[in-house]
Amino acid sequence: EVDRLSDLEKLKVLGHGNGGTVYQVRHKRTSAIYALKVVNGDCDTTVRRQIFREIEILRRTDSPFIVRCHGIFEKPSENFSILMEYMDGGTLDTLLKSHGTLSELSLSNIARQVLDGLNYLHSQKIVHRDIKPANLLVNQKMEVKIADFGVSKIMCRSLEPCDSYVGTCAYMSPERFDPDTYGSNYNGYAADIWSLGLTILELYVGHFPLLSAGQRPDWATLMCAICFGGPPSLPESASEEFKSFIECCLQKDSSERWTVSQLLSHPFIAKNQGSEN
Ligand code: ATP
Ligand code: MG
Repeated sequence: EVDRLSDLEKLKVLGHGNGGTVYQVRHKRTSAIYALKVVNGDCDTTVRRQIFREIEILRRTDSPFIVRCHGIFEKPSENFSILMEYMDGGTLDTLLKSHGTLSELSLSNIARQVLDGLNYLHSQKIVHRDIKPANLLVNQKMEVKIADFGVSKIMCRSLEPCDSYVGTCAYMSPERFDPDTYGSNYNGYAADIWSLGLTILELYVGHFPLLSAGQRPDWATLMCAICFGGPPSLPESASEEFKSFIECCLQKDSSERWTVSQLLSHPFIAKNQGSEN
């Protein structure tokens, strides 16, 4: 559909990431709106590796719960551009800041869509490794899609441990810091569930759940909170189903944490199947 970059007109900047800028663009002929991520070709090798990984994963994914890629443009030695579907609600991180905390019903719908996305990714042997509010895009229809595959991993063998130290350390699971204590049966997929649990909890309480509101997130404090503290949980006022769901996601031992398919039939998710908010 979009053949050349020159078919597109930049409308505004949607956000900056490390190494690149995301623009809202319009296809001149059809007026269709897209998001275009432009990464400088002279970025350092880490950023370069991330952008290649993101391109590889976006090329091979095809799911309503994963942000869609409509084309890759390369200007050798200049830059790379990824044309994506435009999500007019921005990220869940900005939604939290602009609209405040979300209701249990909204969070049940959001969690189900992220689980559907993870179900797809995990079935394709892809671990996202950076699930957090800032990497989940929404639109006006309250459709939620997983984005930002810069640190994801394609597992070669199903049980290959997912070792390297990447991602935002705040949402990282205990077994990624300490596989000897928390990682019996360690395969990487469970780490995405921990990050999902923290994300949903954050959208309900309004701040990153492992720190008190306003506390500075330095690396040592976070690592201690994740590895030595009890898992964070919901306030008493939340429903029993919601509390149970969060508890199932935030089992410190990765082998006790629920899998995507178990969570998809958890009452917190299953009871609202199909209902809109
Ligand atoms: P970081 O590593 O800091 O997370 P990044 O380089 O991976 O950044 P993205 O997270 O992909 O970049 O995008 C940066 C910002 O651009 C997002 O936070 C979001 O606000 C906006 N954005 C990205 N993709 C889209 C999209 N498809 N539709 C609308 N906005 C988008
Ligand atoms: Mg991001």
